[in-house]
Parts: sequence; C-alpha cells; structure tokens
Amino acid sequence: MMNFHIHSTWSDGLYTPEIIVREAIKKKMEKIGFADHYQTTKVSSISKKYLKMYLEDIKALRKKYGEIEIYAGIEVDFSPRTNIDELPDFEDFDFVLFEYVQDSLWDGYPLWMLLDLRKRIKPPVILAHNDLSRNFGATDIEAFLRVLEADNIGIELNTNLNYTKLGEFYYRLATPIFERVEEYNIPISIGSDMHENLELLDDVEDALSFIQEMHLEKNLKLFLKEVGERYER
Ligand SMILES: [Zn+2]
Repeated sequence: MMNFHIHSTWSDGLYTPEIIVREAIKKKMEKIGFADHYQTTKVSSISKKYLKMYLEDIKALRKKYGEIEIYAGIEVDFSPRTNIDELPDFEDFDFVLFEYVQDSLWDGYPLWMLLDLRKRIKPPVILAHNDLSRNFGATDIEAFLRVLEADNIGIELNTNLNYTKLGEFYYRLATPIFERVEEYNIPISIGSDMHENLELLDDVEDALSFIQEMHLEKNLKLFLKEVGERYER
C-alpha cells in the first residue's frame, strides 16, 4: 500500500512524521509521502526558512527506518494566499502537489500560470484533489490532457472525504476525463490527505480500484518511476 499525501505536525497534521512512519510500518505499507503545506496564509504551514529542516527531518527518518520508502513532498496552495513570485524550486524534494489550480471557489490561479512555473520546478508536479469536472469540465478534454502531458503535470486521486460531492470522490465525478488519461503519459498519484486520523493512512483502496477500472496502471507506474528516480539521488 502507498500514500503520497500525508500531513504531519510540520503543518496542520496532528502527528509527528516519526509516529506516522511507525504506524505505516505497522500497517505494512511500502511507500509513504509527506506533503505538508508550504507557506500559505490558509493553514499552519512551513515557511521558506524552515523548508530545509523539514526535508532533513524526513531524510533522517529514511535512514532510520529502512523497511519503508519515505518520500519528501510538499503542498503548495496555488492562490493569492501564497507568495508565488518567490516560490522555491523545491530542488531537493521528491514531488510537489499544487492544490486549487483553476479552482475559482478557492481563488485558485489558472492552469496557465502553473505552466509558466513548471519549467523551474524539477520534481514531479501534481494537481492535488482537483475537482476536474468543475474546474476543467468546459475545456476540450484532449487539449487539456495534451497540455498536462507536454508540461509533465500529473493528477492525484485523493480519497479524502473533503474531496467528494454527494458521496462521490472528485476523480469519480471526472470519469469522462480519466477514461482518456491512459492514452497519455500523465503521471497518476494517490493519497488520502491524512491529517489527524491514522486510520486514513492506508485508506486508498478506492483510488487503486479506480486505477484498475480506468486502466491507469501505466500512469501510476510513471509517477512511481519519477518519484523513485528522485528518491535514489
Ligand atoms: Zn493536503
């Protein structure tokens, strides 16, 4: 089992990274990825000057616990709540999640702004818990997917109940889009956006089923390969 969207006490999560790592080992998970919030006025988050400490904390756990792969990610609130002009390049991270991309309800900046930024960010870039059918439903699906592929931007399947409508996960509401994703080299990531409930640490079953239903195994592999290459450095 794997989960690439976990919050710790570094931002607005309840548990320290070490407690989370131990719980993940107990649950026999293979890969976990921390994705604490980067400096935003929205929630408790990691300011630029503490980024290095956060990274070192995670890398130390990686050394201490060899039985599980521990990835270092970060989540960017892509809105005026973040100082996007001074966004770091996140060079030493394994992946970067962008939330609220083109999400008008949350004042999210449009996708084209992310395309501009993307060029200077080396790690895999992923659209986190995006309500694709609402934010991109009016866009031509092929054109949208071609843009993501060209700029190497992936999509996350997020299994947190915050990202549902009438009991359906956002990704399930965007089935017409995901039916086409297998034709493109677009990385697919999965995560539960765990904050305070350790039970949610391996709660990604539905995302894995969805990957099978939509034939996205190759896309998940692409994501795992990209983060894996970062991890091995
Ligand atoms: Zn999150």
